[in-house]
Amino acid sequence: MERKIIFATGNENKMKEIRMILSDLGMPILSMKEAGINVDVVEDGTTFEENALIKATEIAKYVDNCIVLADDSGLEIDYLNKEPGIYSARYAGENTSYDIKNNLLLERLAGVPDEKRTARFVCAVAAAFPDGTTEVVRGTIEGRIGHEIIGENGFGYDPIFYLPEYGCTTAQMDPDKKNELSHRGNALRAMRAIMEKKYENTNR
Ligand code: IMP
Repeated sequence: MERKIIFATGNENKMKEIRMILSDLGMPILSMKEAGINVDVVEDGTTFEENALIKATEIAKYVDNCIVLADDSGLEIDYLNKEPGIYSARYAGENTSYDIKNNLLLERLAGVPDEKRTARFVCAVAAAFPDGTTEVVRGTIEGRIGHEIIGENGFGYDPIFYLPEYGCTTAQMDPDKKNELSHRGNALRAMRAIMEKKYENTNR
């Protein structure tokens, strides 16, 4: 039987990126919606890795002979003791706009010099395999918090995430270029390598 991958996300932008990066595996990749799964998983872990594993293993209970992948990501700002971290989506309240979230972070960093504005996006990708084993990997991209909201591409904290070596924020970057460098891209490529190794001698 053909093995399928189910990616535990409802986010279409993520699905596009995931399909691009994992297409070489030659396995169909379904979103939760496409797989007909509608489960709300409580992400109560204390790290990105724990949360990604919680999601993947919980969804795996609802499927047969599928590889379930899940991710958890966020922004860590060193000057703020790695806030907002695993609470990135919920920072300043789940329903506040990113304009508000980004402005709040800029205010909290007012007067902080560039060399102390270091930050990174982090993404953990977890896999729950049909044989009951799990794997989790982490990808990061290092940058700095800028001084203003700038750029129209991307989402979330992209307009304040500045990459000094490119002289722009990730919201000013071409989306393909961002995928090539991003935390999620790096984590997905690491997971792809694990899956290639795991299934190299099988017909999947
Ligand atoms: P989740 O991984 O879907 O739980 O999302 C985590 C949150 O981290 C998102 O809602 C964004 O606030 C933030 N985040 C994660 N990745 C990115 C990114 O590539 N750009 C901007 N914000 C991001």
